[in-house]
Amino acid sequence: MSRDIKIHHAPDATALTPDIADSTARALDAELAGLATPTERIRAIRAALDGRIAFSTSLGLEDQAVLHAIADSSADIDVFTLDTGRHFEETFDTIAASEARYGLKIRLIAPDTGELERLVARDGVLGFRTSIESRKACCDVRKVRPLQRALAGAGGWITGLRRAQSNGRADVPFATYDAAQGLVKLSPLADWSVETLERYVAAHDIPVNALHAHGFPSIGCQPCTRAVRPGEDIRAGRWWWESADGKECGLHTNAGQRSAATRA
Ligand code: SF4
Repeated sequence: MSRDIKIHHAPDATALTPDIADSTARALDAELAGLATPTERIRAIRAALDGRIAFSTSLGLEDQAVLHAIADSSADIDVFTLDTGRHFEETFDTIAASEARYGLKIRLIAPDTGELERLVARDGVLGFRTSIESRKACCDVRKVRPLQRALAGAGGWITGLRRAQSNGRADVPFATYDAAQGLVKLSPLADWSVETLERYVAAHDIPVNALHAHGFPSIGCQPCTRAVRPGEDIRAGRWWWESADGKECGLHTNAGQRSAATRA
């Protein structure tokens, strides 16, 4: 794999009409299902879509596997992560280790300064613990809005979603037209079990967040993530003070469904 730092990516393409983007996504969904490796799937994604293809990584196990496949494929993919300002130190260590291993630049997308200052002035530095509304407002400013900014103009959005991760993700397609973002949303590991994922990571000696070895299967912001106990759900440590239902940050709403524009 190349160790040259790549920071330039394909320019934003002219937006596809929803009908064309939907038919492109459906054809790609069928094609990806027939390919065996994530490297082949990344190459097929790159070949099928014009313009910038973005990969939003949270540096979790799935995303590290996708990053490995991107590097292995040599495909031109814009890799970025959302720097919420509340991450664990180990997450930044994972970014640095990944850049050194793969020669890829992982862009850090920051929240809007003014929005962040107004949020903290209103809710306080730990306001997300006081109500679900405040927690969602924090995720909105620190994650959702920066994500929308980073995806604007992209033709494709690669994620590390897997169907087995949660009930809400049970129907995640390999490729679907995301009408809200105006692009094709891609999940090249959609059909992977956690065992397949762990085998792939071990076989390729992929750099992973050191917290995984300390009971953190799912890692988000430091104040909103705790270790899980044996037998607990892998996402039990995320926003653990809330009920188990619907614990998403808003980045993957309707993750398991085709968007309204693509339903017959
Ligand atoms: S995970 Fe917690 S700290 Fe991070 S953006 Fe959401 S509420 Fe804020």
